[in-house]
Amino acid sequence: MEKNNIKKSNSYISEEEKTLVWEDIQLSFKKTFGNEIYNSWLQKISLIKEYNDYLILGVPTRFFRDWIVSRYLDKILEQVKGFKLSLNRIEFKIIEEAKQNQEFVRINELNKVTEIKDSILNYNRLNPNLSFDNFIQGKSNDIALSYSKKVCEHISRYNPLYICGGVGLGKTHLLNAVGLALQSENNVMFISAERFMYHFIKSIKKNDMVNFKDFFRKSSVFILDDIQFIRGKESLQEEFFHTFNSLMDKGSQIIISADRPPLKLDRVQERIKSRLSGGLIVDIDQPDQELKKDIIKQKIADTSREFKENINISEDVINFIANESKTNIRELLGVLNRVIAFSRVHKRVLNTADCKQILKDVFSQVKIVTVDKIQNVVCNFFDIPLSEMLSQRRSRPLARPRQIAMFLAKKLTTR
Ligand code: ADP
Ligand code: MG
Repeated sequence: MEKNNIKKSNSYISEEEKTLVWEDIQLSFKKTFGNEIYNSWLQKISLIKEYNDYLILGVPTRFFRDWIVSRYLDKILEQVKGFKLSLNRIEFKIIEEAKQNQEFVRINELNKVTEIKDSILNYNRLNPNLSFDNFIQGKSNDIALSYSKKVCEHISRYNPLYICGGVGLGKTHLLNAVGLALQSENNVMFISAERFMYHFIKSIKKNDMVNFKDFFRKSSVFILDDIQFIRGKESLQEEFFHTFNSLMDKGSQIIISADRPPLKLDRVQERIKSRLSGGLIVDIDQPDQELKKDIIKQKIADTSREFKENINISEDVINFIANESKTNIRELLGVLNRVIAFSRVHKRVLNTADCKQILKDVFSQVKIVTVDKIQNVVCNFFDIPLSEMLSQRRSRPLARPRQIAMFLAKKLTTR
């Protein structure tokens, strides 16, 4: 009974937790993008569902979606983040115009149903798309991955399991995968430290701490994402410490993620740091070229399957993206999405010069290569005057550099 409720609540956030007023967001679109773009495109987007960290927006057609994704997605995300910082992703759903209103009503009704008296049921939100199956193994994450799997085989052998690493490297994905793997046999609680605090404060205000404590302490698998959030928050730390102890006492498995190792959690009580260090600490590092390429390839295959069409991205382009995207996997996927959307809209196989063009604002640090620059570099390298290289003379010491410059221009520019 209880499990059912928890599962149902994965999908929606309750009315009272909703924060976005779509009309306000539309207004900001109008301001940012101008009337023309707004009237032809953005006005037609509707809000279908609001989650804590992402939105599902409704659009009338596939073409419409691809167009929006390839041109405006980043800006749209930036805008909505201005209204709700925790948003980090947008999904689109295609709804024919006529159905749009119906869908809206239906979802609103559903929200009411799942709003079940006790909003505590909304704690738990596992994303069915972040599983072990689509988590790609690489040098930077294989230890974290293998211990996450071991935890699923032997509950509380490594307790707590503490996964740390920079943003966008796959911590939430791994935690979610553990939750999915264990949820059928266990009472799994998966929550970010930020949400934990939100409910903590709400329960204090409502004078409902008994329920709060009960609820968290009865899970057999407790997964807490981004624990660094508790830094500097004394009463939250107090509550967390007791929750932690009580769970450990009854042999529940605890899995925690953070952007840094336990001992580096400044403004966190020593006793908490020491508890957190008491199990197994694994870290996730920056992905190497190989992992980035594997992730890109998987994503291309997934997207091809999803759209039932063959998405053809050349090995050159894959190498280019993997090489240029240097921050994290989230960014890598964002970049790839743009490239895929562009290639689908324009129905052609892209080359690296196209990608540079599409991504020029993302890789702002990427130097735009121009023919002039190539000529200069080549002349410097061979130590010949530019005028000589550009002259009609065909002597070997000039022809070779000239060919190389032409080759580079073809490879690196659109000319
Ligand atoms: P973090 O929580 O560390 O900030 P996320 O788990 O949110 O990072 O990962 C960012 C994005 O990258 C997500 O879309 C996630 O699915 C994807 N991702 C990260 N690592 C991998 C991986 N090894 N294989 C497939 N996708 C990954
Ligand atoms: Mg995360």
